[in-house]
Amino acid sequence: MIKSATISRTPSGKYYVSLLVETVVEPLSKIRSNIGIDLGLTDFIVLSDSTKVANPKFLSKLQHKLAREQKILAKRRAVAKADQRKLSDSRNYQKQKIKVAKVYERITNCRKDFLHKLSFNLIKNHDVIAIEDLNVKGMVKNKKLAKAISDSSWSTFTTMLNYKAEWYGKKLVKIDRWYPSSKTCSGCGHLLTKAELPLQVRSWNCPSCLQSNDRDINASINILNEGLKLATLKTVGATGLA
Ligand SMILES: [Zn+2]
Repeated sequence: MIKSATISRTPSGKYYVSLLVETVVEPLSKIRSNIGIDLGLTDFIVLSDSTKVANPKFLSKLQHKLAREQKILAKRRAVAKADQRKLSDSRNYQKQKIKVAKVYERITNCRKDFLHKLSFNLIKNHDVIAIEDLNVKGMVKNKKLAKAISDSSWSTFTTMLNYKAEWYGKKLVKIDRWYPSSKTCSGCGHLLTKAELPLQVRSWNCPSCLQSNDRDINASINILNEGLKLATLKTVGATGLA
């Protein structure tokens, strides 16, 4: 049933109709598989089953294109200013502005599409999905990580996982962001110090059990185990109340 329709116009001049639809979503069946997700830096996400999901290549291509078009836009702005013309009167500037908006919209759409497919597949193929509850705003302040994080759209992704888990009857568990998922050995629980695991170290051998750990896969296994612990606690708590 359609409840309302909203028409919007994008900066590039495209029109969109958004329909608010009331519908019943059938929960997906349980499949006795659980997964831990780590936010990668080189990859978009790394999973506890050793899968690494790369940032889609077309996004970085489009981002280069965006940078190019923005440079041209800045030049045209400068030319108009030098000629003492208003930007609204500069046809070249206005044309370029639409071009920039179009590339930007393509990036937004491609990224959303990528995140929708990825989050749906994770929800479909697993019952408990464990992620880190990262403070993305705090992390973006750190300039080194800023690009990687804002590009990877982590917060949009977790929002999607959140409501899709609810729709389809799955469980999303968020792990405290202070939980040392990277520094803990998933084999024996040995905890490295911060100095022992600087950011550039991508794999390490546990000094205690000698297991060799890929930094991100190890972290996602820890996130899964911690998530399962929390999920069980919550379930027990809920049953205890009932
Ligand atoms: Zn170990």
